Amino acid sequence: MRTLVTGAGGFIVGHLVKTLEQLGHKVIAVDIKPFEDWHQFSEMSEKFVSDLKLLENAILYTKGVEQIFNLAADMGGMGFIENNKAKCMESVLINTHLLQAAKLNSVSKFFFSSSACVYASFHQNKLDIDPLKESDAYPADPEDGYGWEKLFSERMCRHFQDDYGVETRVARYHNVYGPFGTYDGGREKVPAAACRKIIRAIQNKSYELEIWGDGNQLRSFTYITDCIEGTIRLMNSNYSEPLNIGSSEMISINDLYRTIILINNLPLGKFKFKYNMDAPQGVRGRSSNNQECKKVLDWEPSISIKTGIKQTFDWIAKELNY
Ligand code: NAD
Repeated sequence: MRTLVTGAGGFIVGHLVKTLEQLGHKVIAVDIKPFEDWHQFSEMSEKFVSDLKLLENAILYTKGVEQIFNLAADMGGMGFIENNKAKCMESVLINTHLLQAAKLNSVSKFFFSSSACVYASFHQNKLDIDPLKESDAYPADPEDGYGWEKLFSERMCRHFQDDYGVETRVARYHNVYGPFGTYDGGREKVPAAACRKIIRAIQNKSYELEIWGDGNQLRSFTYITDCIEGTIRLMNSNYSEPLNIGSSEMISINDLYRTIILINNLPLGKFKFKYNMDAPQGVRGRSSNNQECKKVLDWEPSISIKTGIKQTFDWIAKELNY
């Protein structure tokens, strides 16, 4: 099976490629970043640096391909998406052109990585929220910029399937984390940022941790191996509606920091939590309702935050010579 993966230099696809290769796929891997910036680098796959916002590139790399896993997007954590709305929306060109190219080159299946950021903000504006079920994306009020682009692209998948017969699969990922991801530079997400801040606070002996907001925001975090398992299961299923791929284990940002400190036997009492109320904070509470996921995939993410964050911390610690 010749399989195109886009966003191949990124965090999630770095892991996905390994699994696809183990499953026997011949992988064609494309990313806009130069090779030296790819998070992981498989010797087995055919690798290309190319901008998939351009239709001619999308057509070129989809030739002779049977499946596409489209994960390319200009994105990052809350600090990035709140300050780069236009950039986030320009990813619509990647999805549009890859779908057009998939139709032109008769690609049989197309996977699109959507996000929990499509969910309407009024379902997430308090702490005692109900976990988000797939229908909570409508009436639409997604995260401005990034979330609107994902919601629009989800619908494009639906209509390319209905009108042109390109079979599509859409995952709504919830906060994916793990080793080999971005942990600094402005695009990192909370779990990696928290590990980095804790390590840096010890290294510079300040023991000061800057938390965005009051730290009571609730989130669920999905470990990378669960994300990959859900992605493969969804692609192999017959389900073409958007589906949550996310952990249902909720934790506050304050407790995430405390968990990282305690599982690494660090002195919790020494750390000073400083709250920056001007920093981007995202929604108040968000978690994944997995009823549909269990029904469709006969599975749901199960790796606990304690297990996943320990692996993540250990990898970032090594990167930072801690
Ligand atoms: P990532 O930023 O690590 O990877 C995305 C990759 O896409 C990057 O390497 C980037 O260079 C590449 N890219 C951007 N523009 C491109 C272009 N024009 N042409 C080719 N490549 C391009 O992100 P990730 O965490 O691996 O996420 C992968 C996908 O999953 C994204 O679509 C993201 O929106 C979605 N998602 C991720 C999360 C998460 O928590 N990581 C949550 C929800 C959805």
